Amino acid sequence: MKTLILWIDAVRQDYVNEKDMPFLYSLSKKYGLGELKQSFGFSSASFFTGVYPNKHGQLALYKKGKQKKSLLLKILPNFIKNYYFNLINYLKGNDLFMPYLDKKDFIPSQKKQFHHQDCLKVKTIFDSFRENKLKYLYYQWPLMVTNNKTKLSFCKNNDLTRVKKFIKIFKNNQDIYFFHLWDLDKYGHIYGPESKQLRLKLKEQDNLAKKILSLFNLEKDNLIIWSDHGMVNIKQTVNIQSILPKRSDYLYFLDGTMARFWFTNKEAKEAVFKSLNSIKCGHILSQEEKKKHKIDFKNEDNGEEIFLLDNSYAILPNFFNKDIIKGMHDYDLTDKNDLGIFIINKKTGKTANMVDMCPTILDILNIKYKDLDGKSLLIQ
Ligand SMILES: [Zn+2]
Repeated sequence: MKTLILWIDAVRQDYVNEKDMPFLYSLSKKYGLGELKQSFGFSSASFFTGVYPNKHGQLALYKKGKQKKSLLLKILPNFIKNYYFNLINYLKGNDLFMPYLDKKDFIPSQKKQFHHQDCLKVKTIFDSFRENKLKYLYYQWPLMVTNNKTKLSFCKNNDLTRVKKFIKIFKNNQDIYFFHLWDLDKYGHIYGPESKQLRLKLKEQDNLAKKILSLFNLEKDNLIIWSDHGMVNIKQTVNIQSILPKRSDYLYFLDGTMARFWFTNKEAKEAVFKSLNSIKCGHILSQEEKKKHKIDFKNEDNGEEIFLLDNSYAILPNFFNKDIIKGMHDYDLTDKNDLGIFIINKKTGKTANMVDMCPTILDILNIKYKDLDGKSLLIQ
Protein backbone atom coordinates (compact mmCIF):
# COMPACT_ATOMS: atom_id res chain seq x y z
CA MET A 1 0.00 0.00 0.00
CA LYS A 2 1.31 3.42 -0.99
CA THR A 3 0.30 6.91 0.08
CA LEU A 4 0.26 9.92 -2.22
CA ILE A 5 0.24 13.41 -0.72
CA LEU A 6 -0.38 15.75 -3.63
CA TRP A 7 -0.13 19.46 -2.89
CA ILE A 8 -1.76 21.56 -5.61
CA ASP A 9 -1.03 25.19 -4.82
CA ALA A 10 -3.86 27.74 -4.82
CA VAL A 11 -6.85 25.56 -5.80
CA ARG A 12 -10.07 26.99 -4.45
CA GLN A 13 -13.37 25.15 -4.11
CA ASP A 14 -15.21 26.52 -7.14
CA TYR A 15 -12.33 25.51 -9.46
CA VAL A 16 -13.21 21.88 -8.87
CA ASN A 17 -16.05 21.73 -11.40
CA GLU A 18 -16.84 19.51 -14.37
CA LYS A 19 -15.60 21.98 -16.98
CA ASP A 20 -12.34 23.30 -15.50
CA MET A 21 -11.04 20.31 -13.55
CA PRO A 22 -13.03 17.25 -14.72
CA PHE A 23 -10.64 14.74 -13.16
CA LEU A 24 -10.56 16.32 -9.70
CA TYR A 25 -14.30 16.84 -10.02
CA SER A 26 -14.84 13.11 -10.59
CA LEU A 27 -12.70 12.37 -7.52
CA SER A 28 -14.67 14.90 -5.48
CA LYS A 29 -17.92 13.21 -6.56
CA LYS A 30 -16.58 9.92 -5.29
CA TYR A 31 -14.80 10.99 -2.11
CA GLY A 32 -16.21 14.45 -1.38
CA LEU A 33 -14.62 17.89 -1.58
CA GLY A 34 -13.40 19.31 1.71
CA GLU A 35 -12.89 22.95 2.66
CA LEU A 36 -9.45 23.54 4.10
CA LYS A 37 -8.86 26.65 6.20
CA GLN A 38 -5.19 27.55 6.31
CA SER A 39 -3.51 29.01 9.37
CA PHE A 40 -3.18 32.78 9.42
CA GLY A 41 -0.25 34.20 7.42
CA PHE A 42 2.06 33.04 4.65
CA SER A 43 3.34 29.71 5.90
CA SER A 44 2.44 26.09 5.26
CA ALA A 45 4.16 24.88 8.45
CA SER A 46 0.79 24.08 10.08
CA PHE A 47 0.26 21.35 7.47
CA PHE A 48 3.60 19.70 8.22
CA THR A 49 3.41 20.01 12.01
CA GLY A 50 -0.26 19.83 13.01
CA VAL A 51 0.19 22.82 15.31
CA TYR A 52 -0.73 26.51 15.01
CA PRO A 53 1.73 29.35 14.25
CA ASN A 54 2.13 30.27 17.95
CA LYS A 55 3.72 26.82 18.43
CA HIS A 56 5.69 26.30 15.18
CA GLY A 57 6.75 29.95 15.18
CA GLN A 58 6.11 30.93 11.56
CA LEU A 59 3.99 33.72 10.15
CA ALA A 60 5.53 34.57 6.78
CA LEU A 61 8.53 33.91 4.55
CA TYR A 62 10.69 36.51 6.29
CA LYS A 63 11.15 37.61 9.88
CA LYS A 64 13.27 40.21 11.64
CA GLY A 65 16.96 39.34 11.87
CA LYS A 66 20.36 40.55 10.70
CA GLN A 67 21.28 39.38 7.24
CA LYS A 68 25.00 38.97 6.66
CA LYS A 69 26.04 41.13 3.75
CA SER A 70 27.82 39.50 0.87
CA LEU A 71 29.81 41.85 -1.29
CA LEU A 72 29.17 39.74 -4.36
CA LEU A 73 25.40 39.97 -3.86
CA LYS A 74 25.74 43.74 -3.97
CA ILE A 75 27.44 43.84 -7.34
CA LEU A 76 25.78 40.92 -9.14
CA PRO A 77 23.07 41.77 -11.66
CA ASN A 78 19.56 41.37 -10.25
CA PHE A 79 18.51 38.29 -12.19
CA ILE A 80 21.53 36.31 -10.91
CA LYS A 81 21.18 37.42 -7.27
CA ASN A 82 18.39 34.97 -6.55
CA TYR A 83 20.37 31.98 -7.86
CA TYR A 84 23.55 33.04 -6.06
CA PHE A 85 21.72 33.64 -2.75
CA ASN A 86 20.10 30.19 -2.87
CA LEU A 87 23.27 28.45 -4.04
CA ILE A 88 25.30 29.88 -1.15
CA ASN A 89 22.58 28.85 1.28
CA TYR A 90 22.40 25.39 -0.24
CA LEU A 91 26.14 24.90 0.18
CA LYS A 92 25.69 25.78 3.87
CA GLY A 93 23.06 23.03 4.15
CA ASN A 94 20.07 25.37 3.93
CA ASP A 95 17.92 23.95 1.16
CA LEU A 96 14.68 25.89 1.46
CA PHE A 97 14.87 28.12 -1.59
CA MET A 98 13.59 31.66 -1.18
CA PRO A 99 13.12 34.80 -3.22
CA TYR A 100 16.19 36.94 -2.40
CA LEU A 101 15.45 40.26 -0.71
CA ASP A 102 17.95 43.05 -0.46
CA LYS A 103 16.94 43.93 3.12
CA LYS A 104 19.59 43.90 5.80
CA ASP A 105 17.15 43.66 8.74
CA PHE A 106 15.24 40.56 7.65
CA ILE A 107 16.07 36.88 7.29
CA PRO A 108 14.14 33.86 5.98
CA SER A 109 11.81 32.39 8.65
CA GLN A 110 12.93 28.89 7.75
CA LYS A 111 16.22 27.72 6.30
CA LYS A 112 15.76 24.02 5.70
CA GLN A 113 13.09 22.02 3.92
CA PHE A 114 10.40 20.31 5.97
CA HIS A 115 11.95 16.84 5.88
CA HIS A 116 14.96 17.97 7.98
CA GLN A 117 14.80 17.05 11.62
CA ASP A 118 15.73 20.52 12.82
CA CYS A 119 13.86 22.64 10.26
CA LEU A 120 11.44 23.99 12.88
CA LYS A 121 11.32 24.05 16.66
CA VAL A 122 8.58 21.41 16.67
CA LYS A 123 8.34 17.92 15.19
CA THR A 124 7.17 17.53 11.58
CA ILE A 125 5.25 14.77 9.85
CA PHE A 126 8.55 13.54 8.36
CA ASP A 127 9.89 12.89 11.86
CA SER A 128 6.88 10.62 12.42
CA PHE A 129 7.52 8.83 9.11
CA ARG A 130 11.12 8.18 10.13
CA GLU A 131 10.24 7.03 13.65
CA ASN A 132 7.84 4.53 12.10
CA LYS A 133 10.35 3.40 9.50
CA LEU A 134 8.22 4.51 6.58
CA LYS A 135 10.12 5.20 3.38
CA TYR A 136 9.32 8.42 1.60
CA LEU A 137 10.01 10.31 -1.55
CA TYR A 138 9.69 14.07 -1.14
CA TYR A 139 9.85 15.90 -4.45
CA GLN A 140 10.04 19.61 -3.84
CA TRP A 141 11.73 20.98 -6.96
CA PRO A 142 14.67 21.09 -7.40
CA LEU A 143 15.13 18.70 -4.48
CA MET A 144 14.42 15.03 -4.83
CA VAL A 145 14.62 13.56 -1.34
CA THR A 146 14.43 9.85 -0.73
CA ASN A 147 14.67 8.96 2.95
CA ASN A 148 17.02 11.83 3.73
CA LYS A 149 19.23 11.39 0.70
CA THR A 150 18.90 14.59 -1.24
CA LYS A 151 19.64 14.98 -4.91
CA LEU A 152 19.43 18.19 -6.85
CA SER A 153 17.23 17.33 -9.75
CA PHE A 154 17.17 20.19 -12.18
CA CYS A 155 14.69 20.38 -14.98
CA LYS A 156 12.77 23.37 -16.29
CA ASN A 157 10.98 25.17 -13.49
CA ASN A 158 7.40 24.31 -14.42
CA ASP A 159 4.85 21.71 -13.37
CA LEU A 160 4.76 19.96 -16.73
CA THR A 161 8.45 19.01 -16.65
CA ARG A 162 8.31 18.27 -12.92
CA VAL A 163 5.54 15.72 -13.48
CA LYS A 164 7.43 14.18 -16.40
CA LYS A 165 10.48 13.83 -14.20
CA PHE A 166 8.46 12.32 -11.35
CA ILE A 167 6.88 9.75 -13.65
CA LYS A 168 10.26 8.91 -15.14
CA ILE A 169 11.97 8.24 -11.82
CA PHE A 170 8.93 6.68 -10.14
CA LYS A 171 9.56 3.27 -8.60
CA ASN A 172 7.16 1.24 -6.55
CA ASN A 173 9.50 1.13 -3.58
CA GLN A 174 8.35 3.89 -1.21
CA ASP A 175 5.57 4.07 1.35
CA ILE A 176 4.87 7.78 0.92
CA TYR A 177 5.13 10.00 -2.14
CA PHE A 178 4.93 13.76 -1.71
CA PHE A 179 4.53 15.95 -4.77
CA HIS A 180 3.94 19.71 -5.13
CA LEU A 181 2.32 21.38 -8.16
CA TRP A 182 3.04 25.13 -8.05
CA ASP A 183 2.19 26.95 -11.23
CA LEU A 184 -1.42 27.81 -10.47
CA ASP A 185 -0.43 30.20 -7.67
CA LYS A 186 1.65 32.31 -10.04
CA TYR A 187 -1.19 32.45 -12.58
CA GLY A 188 -3.67 33.50 -9.90
CA HIS A 189 -1.41 36.38 -8.81
CA ILE A 190 -0.54 37.60 -12.30
CA TYR A 191 -3.73 37.07 -14.32
CA GLY A 192 -6.37 36.93 -11.60
CA PRO A 193 -8.38 34.04 -10.14
CA GLU A 194 -11.16 34.24 -12.74
CA SER A 195 -9.10 34.99 -15.85
CA LYS A 196 -9.06 33.09 -19.13
CA GLN A 197 -5.38 32.26 -18.61
CA LEU A 198 -6.08 30.77 -15.21
CA ARG A 199 -8.96 28.67 -16.52
CA LEU A 200 -6.60 27.15 -19.08
CA LYS A 201 -4.08 26.47 -16.36
CA LEU A 202 -6.73 24.65 -14.32
CA LYS A 203 -7.17 22.19 -17.19
CA GLU A 204 -3.42 21.61 -17.31
CA GLN A 205 -3.18 21.09 -13.54
CA ASP A 206 -6.11 18.69 -13.65
CA ASN A 207 -4.40 16.70 -16.37
CA LEU A 208 -1.12 16.61 -14.43
CA ALA A 209 -2.92 15.39 -11.32
CA LYS A 210 -4.48 12.65 -13.44
CA LYS A 211 -1.04 11.62 -14.74
CA ILE A 212 0.43 11.43 -11.24
CA LEU A 213 -2.54 9.48 -9.94
CA SER A 214 -2.22 6.96 -12.78
CA LEU A 215 0.78 5.60 -10.83
CA PHE A 216 -1.48 4.72 -7.91
CA ASN A 217 -4.39 2.38 -7.31
CA LEU A 218 -7.14 4.26 -5.54
CA GLU A 219 -8.80 1.04 -4.39
CA LYS A 220 -5.72 0.12 -2.39
CA ASP A 221 -3.55 3.21 -1.97
CA ASN A 222 -4.12 6.27 0.19
CA LEU A 223 -4.72 9.59 -1.51
CA ILE A 224 -4.50 13.04 0.05
CA ILE A 225 -4.90 15.99 -2.31
CA TRP A 226 -4.74 19.45 -0.72
CA SER A 227 -4.22 23.10 -1.50
CA ASP A 228 -2.63 25.56 0.90
CA HIS A 229 -5.00 28.46 0.12
CA GLY A 230 -7.33 29.79 -2.56
CA MET A 231 -7.12 33.08 -4.50
CA VAL A 232 -9.13 36.26 -4.02
CA ASN A 233 -9.80 38.68 -6.87
CA ILE A 234 -8.10 42.05 -6.31
CA LYS A 235 -10.27 45.09 -6.87
CA GLN A 236 -7.75 47.65 -5.64
CA THR A 237 -4.11 47.88 -4.60
CA VAL A 238 -2.85 50.03 -1.73
CA ASN A 239 0.51 51.81 -1.68
CA ILE A 240 1.28 51.67 2.04
CA GLN A 241 4.93 52.55 1.54
CA SER A 242 4.02 55.98 0.17
CA ILE A 243 2.01 57.02 3.23
CA LEU A 244 4.35 55.75 5.96
CA PRO A 245 6.24 58.44 7.90
CA LYS A 246 9.78 59.04 6.67
CA ARG A 247 11.80 58.31 9.80
CA SER A 248 14.46 55.80 10.71
CA ASP A 249 13.29 54.69 14.18
CA TYR A 250 11.06 51.87 13.05
CA LEU A 251 11.15 48.91 10.63
CA TYR A 252 8.45 47.59 8.37
CA PHE A 253 7.95 44.58 6.14
CA LEU A 254 5.32 44.52 3.37
CA ASP A 255 3.79 41.16 2.47
CA GLY A 256 0.92 40.94 -0.02
CA THR A 257 -1.92 41.42 2.47
CA MET A 258 -0.21 42.60 5.63
CA ALA A 259 2.32 45.17 6.77
CA ARG A 260 4.38 44.27 9.82
CA PHE A 261 6.10 46.79 12.10
CA TRP A 262 8.84 47.00 14.73
CA PHE A 263 9.35 50.20 16.71
CA THR A 264 12.21 51.61 18.74
CA ASN A 265 10.11 54.18 20.61
CA LYS A 266 6.56 55.32 21.35
CA GLU A 267 6.62 58.34 19.06
CA ALA A 268 7.47 56.21 16.03
CA LYS A 269 4.58 53.90 16.82
CA GLU A 270 2.15 56.80 17.18
CA ALA A 271 3.25 58.33 13.89
CA VAL A 272 2.90 55.04 12.03
CA PHE A 273 -0.51 54.29 13.58
CA LYS A 274 -1.70 57.74 12.52
CA SER A 275 -0.75 56.99 8.92
CA LEU A 276 -2.26 53.51 8.99
CA ASN A 277 -5.52 54.79 10.42
CA SER A 278 -6.01 56.83 7.26
CA ILE A 279 -6.32 53.59 5.26
CA LYS A 280 -9.95 52.55 5.27
CA CYS A 281 -9.58 49.07 3.74
CA GLY A 282 -7.63 47.46 6.57
CA HIS A 283 -6.90 47.56 10.29
CA ILE A 284 -4.27 46.95 12.94
CA LEU A 285 -4.78 43.54 14.54
CA SER A 286 -5.79 43.65 18.20
CA GLN A 287 -4.35 41.31 20.83
CA GLU A 288 -7.65 39.39 20.81
CA GLU A 289 -7.43 38.89 17.06
CA LYS A 290 -3.83 37.68 17.36
CA LYS A 291 -4.95 35.19 19.98
CA LYS A 292 -7.92 34.08 17.90
CA HIS A 293 -5.66 33.48 14.88
CA LYS A 294 -3.06 31.76 17.11
CA ILE A 295 -0.35 34.22 16.13
CA ASP A 296 0.33 35.39 19.69
CA PHE A 297 4.04 34.56 19.47
CA LYS A 298 6.47 34.40 22.38
CA ASN A 299 8.80 36.93 20.74
CA GLU A 300 8.36 39.76 18.26
CA ASP A 301 10.48 38.44 15.37
CA ASN A 302 7.36 38.17 13.19
CA GLY A 303 6.25 41.72 13.95
CA GLU A 304 5.24 43.83 16.92
CA GLU A 305 2.16 45.14 15.15
CA ILE A 306 0.37 43.86 12.07
CA PHE A 307 -1.78 45.88 9.72
CA LEU A 308 -4.05 43.55 7.73
CA LEU A 309 -5.93 44.51 4.57
CA ASP A 310 -9.58 43.61 3.95
CA ASN A 311 -10.45 40.92 1.39
CA SER A 312 -9.94 41.99 -2.26
CA TYR A 313 -7.20 44.56 -1.53
CA ALA A 314 -3.46 44.04 -1.96
CA ILE A 315 -0.35 45.91 -0.89
CA LEU A 316 1.56 47.18 -3.92
CA PRO A 317 4.44 47.63 -4.08
CA ASN A 318 5.25 44.96 -1.52
CA PHE A 319 8.63 43.35 -0.83
CA PHE A 320 8.08 40.58 -3.38
CA ASN A 321 6.23 42.39 -6.11
CA LYS A 322 6.36 45.85 -7.61
CA ASP A 323 4.41 45.44 -10.81
CA ILE A 324 0.98 43.95 -10.83
CA ILE A 325 -1.29 41.86 -8.59
CA LYS A 326 -4.63 40.56 -9.83
CA GLY A 327 -5.09 37.89 -7.20
CA MET A 328 -3.94 37.46 -3.57
CA HIS A 329 -4.49 35.10 -0.65
CA ASP A 330 -4.17 34.96 3.12
CA TYR A 331 -6.48 37.55 4.64
CA ASP A 332 -8.55 37.01 7.80
CA LEU A 333 -9.93 33.72 6.36
CA THR A 334 -13.54 34.96 6.19
CA ASP A 335 -13.72 34.81 2.36
CA LYS A 336 -14.43 31.32 0.97
CA ASN A 337 -12.28 32.12 -2.06
CA ASP A 338 -9.28 32.59 0.24
CA LEU A 339 -9.49 28.99 1.48
CA GLY A 340 -8.04 25.75 0.14
CA ILE A 341 -9.49 22.32 -0.54
CA PHE A 342 -8.84 18.68 0.22
CA ILE A 343 -9.84 15.35 -1.27
CA ILE A 344 -9.09 12.18 0.69
CA ASN A 345 -10.13 8.71 -0.46
CA LYS A 346 -11.39 7.80 3.01
CA LYS A 347 -14.50 8.58 5.00
CA THR A 348 -13.74 11.98 6.56
CA GLY A 349 -15.31 15.17 7.81
CA LYS A 350 -15.51 17.86 5.13
CA THR A 351 -14.34 21.02 6.86
CA ALA A 352 -10.87 21.20 8.28
CA ASN A 353 -8.23 23.52 9.62
CA MET A 354 -4.74 23.11 8.19
CA VAL A 355 -3.56 21.68 11.54
CA ASP A 356 -5.96 18.74 11.07
CA MET A 357 -4.13 17.41 8.02
CA CYS A 358 -1.07 16.09 9.86
CA PRO A 359 -3.07 14.02 12.43
CA THR A 360 -5.37 12.81 9.62
CA ILE A 361 -2.46 11.51 7.55
CA LEU A 362 -0.86 9.93 10.63
CA ASP A 363 -4.19 8.30 11.46
CA ILE A 364 -4.52 6.92 7.91
CA LEU A 365 -1.03 5.44 8.33
CA ASN A 366 -1.88 4.03 11.77
CA ILE A 367 0.76 6.17 13.44
CA LYS A 368 0.15 7.32 17.00
CA TYR A 369 0.60 11.03 17.77
CA LYS A 370 0.24 13.38 20.69
CA ASP A 371 0.34 17.08 21.54
CA LEU A 372 -1.01 18.27 18.20
CA ASP A 373 -3.50 21.15 17.89
CA GLY A 374 -5.34 19.44 15.04
CA LYS A 375 -7.71 16.47 15.07
CA SER A 376 -7.96 13.55 12.68
CA LEU A 377 -10.76 13.93 10.14
CA LEU A 378 -11.22 10.18 9.72
CA ILE A 379 -14.66 8.83 10.51
CA GLN A 380 -14.27 5.27 11.74
ZN1 LIG B 1 0.81 32.93 -3.70
